[in-house]
Amino acid sequence: MTAEIRLFPCLADNFGALIHDPATKATAAIDVPEAAPVIAALEREGWTLSDILVTHHHADHTQGIAELKAKYGCRVTAPHDKLTPIADADVRVREGDTVKVGNLVARVLETPGHTLEHISYMFDKEHALFCADTLFSIGCGRVIEGTPSQMWASLVKLRALPDDTRVYCGHEYTLANIKFALTIEPDNAALKARAVEAARQRAEGKPTVPTLLGEEKKANVFLRADVPEVAAAVGLAGKSAAEVFTEVRERKNKF
Ligand code: ZN
Ligand code: FE
Repeated sequence: MTAEIRLFPCLADNFGALIHDPATKATAAIDVPEAAPVIAALEREGWTLSDILVTHHHADHTQGIAELKAKYGCRVTAPHDKLTPIADADVRVREGDTVKVGNLVARVLETPGHTLEHISYMFDKEHALFCADTLFSIGCGRVIEGTPSQMWASLVKLRALPDDTRVYCGHEYTLANIKFALTIEPDNAALKARAVEAARQRAEGKPTVPTLLGEEKKANVFLRADVPEVAAAVGLAGKSAAEVFTEVRERKNKF
């Protein structure tokens, strides 16, 4: 039996996500921006919450933990985080650890940059990556606690995953990301195709997520800092990928 994944909007532009194992009936929420939409999604499916997998400490990813834990008695898995402890965590995980949700297995990837403790969860068998505020569709998270080089290294780590990986990110930011990306790569055919597709999805009231990692590699400028054309486009031909990434991220901050 294959895992089932549900995605639903939370707060202004966050995503809530559930992954369910039909064999054991275990269900995990990946980040919980708020409790109510998570409860509603569970009730729609007739599922009960066994786990919460937390990616990082920001309130828009953790605010629902206390209420959901009280309601379901679920286990909370969170990153090791010396600086900003995540309350109510039962299990702390780091690079290379695995987390079981029933019979489903997620591999923990440390992806620092947005925050220092940010982790992503890769369900290899399901080809599903939950990367919250590290990698967005056609974007990446703001570098708040880490350094741009650290963020670039995290994105390179995610980029190494298989092309058929479905990318579940933390926010619906795709249209704004595309608008910016086109200022750097106006002639990127994959990006232009993504612009058309995402505009249609939003017009139909659908999320632009998940997206395929293989498509992101072609269209997401933040995964392309080591492409010579991108370096040239920001006036840094011949410079290191980390320098190019830093410049692109800086331009997005001001955009
Ligand atoms: Zn965040
Ligand atoms: Fe966030």
